[in-house]
Amino acid sequence: MKKLEDFADDINKCSKCGLCQSVCPVYKITGNDCAVSRGKFVMLDGVLKGDLKLNKNIEKYLDMCLKCGKCKGFCPSNIDVCEIFNTAKYECAKNTFHGKFEKLLESRFVFGNFMKLLKRRPRVSSMAADVSVTKLLYFKGCVNNVLPKTENAFKKICSKLNVEIIERNFECCGLPFLSSGNMERFEEVRAHNLKLMDCEYDYILTDCASCESTLRSYGCENLINAAEFLASQNIKFKFKKPVKVTFHKPCHLKNDDFLKTILKKCENVEYIEMQDYDECCGFAGEFAVKNPKISQAISKQKAKNALATGADYILTACPACIMGLHQGFIVAGKKAPKIMNIVEFLAQADAVA
Ligand code: SF4
Ligand code: SF4
Repeated sequence: MKKLEDFADDINKCSKCGLCQSVCPVYKITGNDCAVSRGKFVMLDGVLKGDLKLNKNIEKYLDMCLKCGKCKGFCPSNIDVCEIFNTAKYECAKNTFHGKFEKLLESRFVFGNFMKLLKRRPRVSSMAADVSVTKLLYFKGCVNNVLPKTENAFKKICSKLNVEIIERNFECCGLPFLSSGNMERFEEVRAHNLKLMDCEYDYILTDCASCESTLRSYGCENLINAAEFLASQNIKFKFKKPVKVTFHKPCHLKNDDFLKTILKKCENVEYIEMQDYDECCGFAGEFAVKNPKISQAISKQKAKNALATGADYILTACPACIMGLHQGFIVAGKKAPKIMNIVEFLAQADAVA
C-alpha cells in the first residue's frame, strides 16, 4: 500500500499554475483554492515537509473533492490527483474514531451482509449455444444488485443478439472505500473481484461508469460498457412516437463515442445536446453527504441545463449520476423529465436485429 511520501515527486510537479481552477466543479461553486488540486497540493507539500499535520481541517478539504478527474485531464503536469488524495485521506482517517467507525460500516460483515439482504434477483439471461457467441462477463455494482433495472433492460435487448451473459458473485467495485480512505477494504474487494474474473470471456461488461473506471484502475482489459456494446451490434431501435432526448456524460465515462452510433440506430429520436453536457452532476456518494450544499448547487445547474433542452428524457450511463440529476431537479423545484440509463431507454423500443 502506497504512502503519501511516495507521491512527493508528483506533488512537487505542481507548478501552481492554477489552470485546474477553470475546470474544477467544486472551485467554480466555492471559489476556495483549498477545494481544488492546487490548494490541496500546497497543504500536502506542507505535510511532507513537516510544517503541517494531517489534521481534521486538511481532511475536510480532501473530502471536498468529487474525484471527477477533470483537473487531471487539464493539468499540464498530468498529476494523478485522485490517487494522491485517496492516499492522503487514508492516512488522515486511519487512526481516528470516525475512520475506524467508517471501516466497521464498510466491512464485509456490515456492508457485505447488508448488500446481500438488498440484492434483487435479475431477469434470467439469454444463453446462446452457438460457437460464434460473444461472452460477456457482467460486472454488477452495488446499485445494480439492489435495482437491476439496467441489467434487465440489457438482457431484454440481448435476447435478440448472439451473446452469453456470464454472472459471478461480484462485490462492490470498491470506489466508495477508496473515497473514504479505506484502502484495506478496497484491496479486499479488488482481490475478490479479480479472482472471479479468472474465467473465459470476450468482454467484462459494466452498466456503471464509476464501476468501469474502478475496474480500469485494477488493470482490467477488454472492458466495455453496456451502451458501447449495443452500439457495436447490428441492431436498430424503433420508437413508436417521436421523442426528444439529451445526454449527461458521467465524469468517470472514458468516452461517449457510442452515443452518436446509438442515435443513428434509433428511429423517431431527436437528440439535443445540453450546455456543458460533460460537466459533473455533483453527486459522488460520500461527497454529497459531506458537502450537501456544494453538491446541490452543482446538481441544480446541471438540471437547469438539461431542462433548457426541452427533452422528454435525460439519458446517462451511471446510477450515481441518475441520483445527481434527480437531486438537481428537487433543489431547483422543477418537474424532472424521465431520467434513466441509456440502455433502459433503448429497451423501450422495438429492437430489430
Ligand atoms: S493544473 Fe496541475 S500544475 Fe497547475 S496548479 Fe493545478 S494541479 Fe498544479
Ligand atoms: S478531482 Fe474534480 S473535484 Fe477534485 S479537485 Fe479535481 S476537478 Fe476538483
